[in-house]
Amino acid sequence: MMISARTSGKPVSHDRRAFRQRFYPDITAREWNDWRWQLRNRIRDLAGLERIIPLTEDERTAVLRRQDALPVGFTPYYASLISRDDPADPIRKTMIPVQAEFISSPGEMVDPLGEDPHSPVPGLVHTYPDKVLFLVTDFCATYCRYCTRSRMVGAGEYLPDRNIWTNALDYIREHREVRDVLLSGGDPLILSEDRLEWLLARLHEIPHVEFLRVGTKIPAVMPQRITPRLVKMLKKYHPLFFSIHFTHPAELTRECARACARLADAGIPLGSQTVLLAGVNDDPSVMKALMLGLLKMRVKPYYLHQCDAVAGSSHFRTPISTGKAIIRNLHGYTTGYAVPTYMLDAPGGGGKVPLTPDYIEGREGDTVLVRNHQGDKYRYVDGERNAQHPTSKHER
Ligand SMILES: *Cc1c(COP(=O)(O)O)cnc(C)c1O
Ligand code: SF4
Repeated sequence: MMISARTSGKPVSHDRRAFRQRFYPDITAREWNDWRWQLRNRIRDLAGLERIIPLTEDERTAVLRRQDALPVGFTPYYASLISRDDPADPIRKTMIPVQAEFISSPGEMVDPLGEDPHSPVPGLVHTYPDKVLFLVTDFCATYCRYCTRSRMVGAGEYLPDRNIWTNALDYIREHREVRDVLLSGGDPLILSEDRLEWLLARLHEIPHVEFLRVGTKIPAVMPQRITPRLVKMLKKYHPLFFSIHFTHPAELTRECARACARLADAGIPLGSQTVLLAGVNDDPSVMKALMLGLLKMRVKPYYLHQCDAVAGSSHFRTPISTGKAIIRNLHGYTTGYAVPTYMLDAPGGGGKVPLTPDYIEGREGDTVLVRNHQGDKYRYVDGERNAQHPTSKHER
């Protein structure tokens, strides 16, 4: 039986130089390696797509039907990771629309996480007591077809706006319970160093803000952005963590490794966030290759997200049992650091709910029956009788 490199989970080595010479013959390596060139030259329409990738009829129709839905857009660098002849290519599926996007399924919503009602001022989502999500822009270097925030990203309406930012900063200053600010969007690393620093500096000087995070997909889709200049600026604002959106082992290129190394060398702890996607990374061997590959780049797998029920995403969603099987295939079989927490974002603003496979089989009096990763049963004498449960307090 032929096992393709894709499904076996082994990263495919792409010849990005050959890709550049074929599709961008007049472009120098210097231009190609300049993130602003990558951004300016994103593939954004039917002509741009068809110049590089022979589209299927389904993809072609979907691109034409799309109208005011989530735009198509990805960098030439990311395009070079796509296999041109394979409509089932995992990265291609996440970037090029198909008509299944227009199907609405039960339970799907435009704002599945109920973020809008939790937004006290534009650009901020305050769902949890001590942390806020700060949506700094609606631009991304690439638009993922399954994006939870497809209702707002890429609309070109929410430019980085000083007024919106100033109001959001005022809110954070006035809410002393907020000790953790997560910058997301859109992608914060689309901003220039100056704008990003303006924001980071103001957040950093708020005494009760003790922890800053940047949520980004840039190291996977436009690693050229992680320049020495950017990193030099970022490291002034510690403790600063990065949550990086990764999807498939094919993203773990030399360029990506260099970007992660620069960030890690600047003392920025790196975590990954991966959305579980049918036909893209829902194979245990693909997920394992991704998680282990990330560890080699000093990225700690943080969350594996159950795909949110955003309108038109049913072709991407897997049953929860698939995610649990993937976690079971990791825990006990490889480095514990490689095992992310599997998370469901409860629809309607309920927040994140961990979906841990259950290793507890039951209880007999004081004895708990557990099953290990190999399925063997063990008994553990539990001190439940003497327990004094701490009540969960939410200090204000
Ligand atoms: C996910 C999320 C956060 C961050 O949650 P962590 O579990 O701390 O990573 C914060 N605010 C909102 C609204 C979120 O959805
Ligand atoms: S990078 Fe994030 S915010 Fe942007 S389109 Fe993808 S999932 Fe959505």
